[in-house]
Amino acid sequence: MYDVCIIGAGVSGCAVARELARYEGKFCVIEKCEDVCCGTSKANSAIVHAGFDAAQGSLMAKLNVQGNRMMGELAKELDVPFERNGSLVICQDENDLPKLRSLYEKGMANGVADLQILSKEEVRKLEPNLTDRMAGALYAPTGGIVCPFLLTIALAENAADNGVEFWFDSQVNQIRKEDGYFTIETGAGRLESRYIVNAAGVYADRIHNMVSSNTMQITARKGEYCLLDRSAGTHVSHTIFTLPTPMGKGVLVTPTVHGNLLVGPTAADIPDKEGTDTTAAGLAELMQKAGMTVKNLPFRQVITSFAGLRAHLNENEFVIGEAEDVPQFIDVAGIESPGLSSAPAIGVMVADILRDSMGLREKEHFQAKRKGILNPADLSFEERNALIQREPAYGNVICRCESVTEGEIIDAIHRPVGAKSLDGIKRRTRAGMGRCQSGFCSPKVMEILKRELQIRMEDVTKCGGHSVIAAGQTKTGK
Ligand SMILES: Cc1cc2nc3c(=O)[nH]c(=O)nc-3n(C[C@H](O)[C@H](O)[C@H](O)COP(=O)(O)OP(=O)(O)OC[C@H]3O[C@@H](n4cnc5c(N)ncnc54)[C@H](O)[C@@H]3O)c2cc1C
Repeated sequence: MYDVCIIGAGVSGCAVARELARYEGKFCVIEKCEDVCCGTSKANSAIVHAGFDAAQGSLMAKLNVQGNRMMGELAKELDVPFERNGSLVICQDENDLPKLRSLYEKGMANGVADLQILSKEEVRKLEPNLTDRMAGALYAPTGGIVCPFLLTIALAENAADNGVEFWFDSQVNQIRKEDGYFTIETGAGRLESRYIVNAAGVYADRIHNMVSSNTMQITARKGEYCLLDRSAGTHVSHTIFTLPTPMGKGVLVTPTVHGNLLVGPTAADIPDKEGTDTTAAGLAELMQKAGMTVKNLPFRQVITSFAGLRAHLNENEFVIGEAEDVPQFIDVAGIESPGLSSAPAIGVMVADILRDSMGLREKEHFQAKRKGILNPADLSFEERNALIQREPAYGNVICRCESVTEGEIIDAIHRPVGAKSLDGIKRRTRAGMGRCQSGFCSPKVMEILKRELQIRMEDVTKCGGHSVIAAGQTKTGK
């Protein structure tokens, strides 16, 4: 019997787990995939929004601004890359300047600090590669960029270090409530819990509707992207938005914390909650729209494309709190953008609800700090040499594009909530994220996974389940 079971190991579920770990109790996270960060949290713009976009007085606006304020300290505690690069919303037409002013006023009302409206000339000084279709911009110096994988992984590792259990490959199929607790049937077995937190992303409606008669419906709103090589990473230094539309924040161009350039997303409602394919039409649309704000975008440097699904509710608002007709069942639903930015504040809000409702007591020895995987490139020449003398695996470069060593990959496998697949290694170390997109390093990473996890080569997967790579017998023998 758990005290709280969190369904979904995305950034929302992991942020709740980490905050809940401050209290005494038996807590778990249940995830249908093989790892954390396999849903929307792995495919988004990675922006820590300033908070001028969400409707004034909404929960979305409040948590966005709070989350943005918390992100710097959290990133330090968890050793996650985060940068306040600032964002610019470009107004492309003089006639739209009143819309820019309303965005400024909304931001001020939401409590966003240091907002400014800049003239065309001022914007040009900040970003020389913008096109001439520009009448001015809203500048938000508090806007930032973060690594969404490392943030989610770090939250999960820190929660695990503080006693939270993780169940993977455990899809929740049914929930029953009886005698004041829930029985949860998963693909990997049954468990019981006094409270449930529903943080299942685009599937939060299905989980909610398993127990509540006030049904909820989440629409998957797809966003496609292309990612450009590091050689294009300085084309802009701020995050460049256009004025928002009813479908979202529009196509943006932004550097990433790892030095790449990201262009996207599109926005289209789709019926398939697994529909993360990219399309020629979607990529053409985002290239055309991005080209209207930023000139000479080097699209020959595209190294990959991907898509993510926003968990869109008609209300266009986060739904966080106890379900009206199901006591002890807490929804964290409709967490579309700015969900990543809001995650630190969502974690605190849900942990506060649980603390007050369950009478939780704070732990005496909560460990707030977590250290990331050691990157030899961050060391001085002398320190690196000493490290390689002690542990030669740090001298064996496995991914040449991103300079990732065997030592880092071994660490990624053996830490709490460790990597079990090629994608798990990729998200933790960046091996395979570079220009060749794992063409050279994947066989070597597979060898390391086989050796460290003591499994057969045929059982090494790209991303768990049946995604085996080597020819021969599969896990099921078929
Ligand atoms: C195109 C796009 C761009 C975005 N850009 C930004 C941005 O720049 N900044 C920002 O702040 N936000 C952004 N967002 C929003 C942000 O990515 C999300 O709000 C956030 O990642 C949601 O996290 P989550 O944990 O709620 O959901 P998810 O990350 O989807 O996690 C839900 C988890 O639940 C699991 N699950 C589902 N069903 C079950 C089940 N039955 N049993 C067990 N587990 C289950 C899933 O496998 C998944 O791992 C963007 C989103 C998209 C799609």
